Amino acid sequence: MYVLFLGPPGCGKGTQAQHLAETNSFYQLSTGNLLRAEIEAKTELGQKMETLYASGKLVDGDLVLKMVQKVVASEGAKSILFDGFPRTVNQATAFGSFLQSIDKKFDCVFSFSLADSEILDRISGRMTCADCKAVYHTKTNPPKTEDVCDKCEGKLVKRTDDSRESVKLRLEEYHRETEPLKEFYKKENVVFEIDASQSIEAVSKQISNEIEAISKYKGNKEKTSGTYSRR
Ligand code: AMP
Repeated sequence: MYVLFLGPPGCGKGTQAQHLAETNSFYQLSTGNLLRAEIEAKTELGQKMETLYASGKLVDGDLVLKMVQKVVASEGAKSILFDGFPRTVNQATAFGSFLQSIDKKFDCVFSFSLADSEILDRISGRMTCADCKAVYHTKTNPPKTEDVCDKCEGKLVKRTDDSRESVKLRLEEYHRETEPLKEFYKKENVVFEIDASQSIEAVSKQISNEIEAISKYKGNKEKTSGTYSRR
């Protein structure tokens, strides 16, 4: 099963993605995490992307597409959760053709909504484990010990693109480039709307219920006719 998490920065996609990866054995394909790994390892690609990344701008879509195709080719048989890709209509169109060529499609697009004012608040308290990339928040999801990851005891750090200026730019990019994807995928009847102002537990329950419904549908597919339609 292929699912996509679509939503603004700081709306909880990463937290939910991690949860789904742990509970439903999805492979979490986060383009942000892939890029951060390249930047940390100071690879040629990482050095090329670093300035754009830190400013909050989108990086070169063709390079991101190549990175994603490589992962899909190696993880293809597994259920994959796409977190942060596609992020523009161009990326979605190019990736759609690629998926078609391997006889796949998104089974569900979870579309997260959250007011910009709350996003700025949430990102100001966000911390990430430098080792396992688990995400925490000082108020809503604090670690048991300050600045230490509950899962691997790694050090919790702030992302370099989580400054207030960068977040404002990322939100502008989101509204301009990524939000139109909601309409793009609505045409395919695969969009499931998520009110991201709810608690982490409430959102995760909605997601797992929906995944269960899709799994059941896919299991029964041979016996039924017609297309699975979300709304
Ligand atoms: P994220 O961790 O998903 O919030 O992504 C952090 C940053 O990585 C973004 O602000 C972009 O600079 C870059 N990035 C991640 N995914 C993409 C993508 N699909 N296309 C272009 N840039 C991306």
